[in-house]
Amino acid sequence: MGGMTTTITHWVDGSRFDGTSDRWADVTNPATGQVSGRVALASEADAQAVIASASRAAQEWGQTSLARRTQVVFAFRELLNSRRDELARLITAEHGKVHSDALGEVARGQEVVEFACGISHLLKGGHSDGASTDIDVHSKRAPLGVVGIISPFNFPAMVPMWFFPVAIAAGNTVVLKPSEKDPSASLWLAELWKEAGLPDGVFNVLQGDKVAVDALLTSPEVQAISFVGSTPIAEYVYETASRNGKRVQALGGAKNHMVVLPDADLDLAADAAVNAGFGSAGERCMAISVLVAVEPVADDLVARIAERTRTLLIGDGGTEATQAGDGKEADMGPLVTKAHRDKVSSFIDSGEQAGAKVVVDGRDVAARGGDQGFYLGPTLFDHVTPDMEVYREEIFGPVLSVVRVASYADALELVNANDYGNGTAIFTNDGGAARRFENDVQVGMIGINVPVPVPVAYYSFGGWKRSLFGDTHAHGTEGVHFFTRGKVVTTRWIDPANRPAGGLELGFPQNV
Ligand code: NAD
Repeated sequence: MGGMTTTITHWVDGSRFDGTSDRWADVTNPATGQVSGRVALASEADAQAVIASASRAAQEWGQTSLARRTQVVFAFRELLNSRRDELARLITAEHGKVHSDALGEVARGQEVVEFACGISHLLKGGHSDGASTDIDVHSKRAPLGVVGIISPFNFPAMVPMWFFPVAIAAGNTVVLKPSEKDPSASLWLAELWKEAGLPDGVFNVLQGDKVAVDALLTSPEVQAISFVGSTPIAEYVYETASRNGKRVQALGGAKNHMVVLPDADLDLAADAAVNAGFGSAGERCMAISVLVAVEPVADDLVARIAERTRTLLIGDGGTEATQAGDGKEADMGPLVTKAHRDKVSSFIDSGEQAGAKVVVDGRDVAARGGDQGFYLGPTLFDHVTPDMEVYREEIFGPVLSVVRVASYADALELVNANDYGNGTAIFTNDGGAARRFENDVQVGMIGINVPVPVPVAYYSFGGWKRSLFGDTHAHGTEGVHFFTRGKVVTTRWIDPANRPAGGLELGFPQNV
């Protein structure tokens, strides 16, 4: 790979397309700090060319039989399953997450593809025989047409797969606008669809930045937008796309709290806090960033978390790097870009200045794999208070803040006062307390002794409050609903043996 850079283009009508803009952005390998490729940044005209490809394919794909559509999605699933290692490597090379974590990302995306293989069952309508005299009623769900998916850097394969398997299976055509930080996975997926037999134009990739996003949000040909990213952009996408008449689901940022009650198993809770706080270098929207320790457990719990945090191996997440060393995979890779690493590091400075206690300091990290990578070690703060910037802002890095509270009621109040409502977890052995928490907490996804409660594909993923704009969550039956529009058909067939006299009747029909 030394010195070679790849060119990452758009994907239109089943082929690569360079576009006509002369704007390109560098893509880096975060483990080495080296530029590994350049990605096209669409002009307005490029965006229109990609949308037109999806538009041309929409009618035929929407009328393709359920059997045929399912066969293509199933073939895609088989190819993805057999080549998942390749995709995981591509993710690690541009995102930085360790190989096993990248494989996990692919597996969770694959789950949604498997869910979408059941689309025939999911699209069955209702039928009511004899709703009124000689009248039957049935419902059906039709595809929308062209749908846009705009995804963040942190799951370059899984987040697009929350949406496109269901969208495509339901008969829509797709324009995916990936993050410009790790765009290669999208092209790999496009090629896989082609190999699976998807007709050209059904799945398209539009590379770029705000220019590409704005084109999708305002194009009259795009019927719906699924967005995942930070809260300010999610809000902007929701408002702009809604104003332009589109159906929108815009998933935003998070600040996920894990509450530990005094009766919890503290070893389990400490393991969970480290896994959920520092896995994928904290760059997960379901990462735990605040640990709420209900006294008197804080001293003991912080000590157990600190002990585990100090054992973590930080380094290049690629398998080659592992084989060259001691055969052990790094626990945590670098952050996605230098700018992001520096921003997260400045949050640590801010917490320290505000008076939080730095128990483990990630700023002194010794990473395996070179000084040029965008590394930051795991950082554990104790005695964080809700007025501090480290508590209020979404840091999106390997920084775990412990907030100490006196009671369950205080813990609940803290979680519910937060602007975000993506995920949360409670650790306890008290079933009654857990049940009360699940009823009282204003958060969309809840874990009971599970720190990262990402719902399985046949349930739906989404938060509350400023973690989601729009009201439909991703995948599961809500996803099927989002990517289809309902019709209800009322039919009257007169029984020839019992033909009524007919006649004029201007009143509103009463169902009898
Ligand atoms: P981001 O908001 O910077 O970017 C998301 C997408 O929006 C990208 O495709 C990007 O190109 C585009 N974009 C960026 N700035 C834009 C602008 N000004 N106008 C129009 N489009 C713009 O997010 P990110 O840094 O890539 O991802 C991290 C964020 O995503 C975090 O806040 C994280 O919590 C969130 N996230 C949320 C979920 C969820 O399910 N709620 C899942 C994953 C990530």
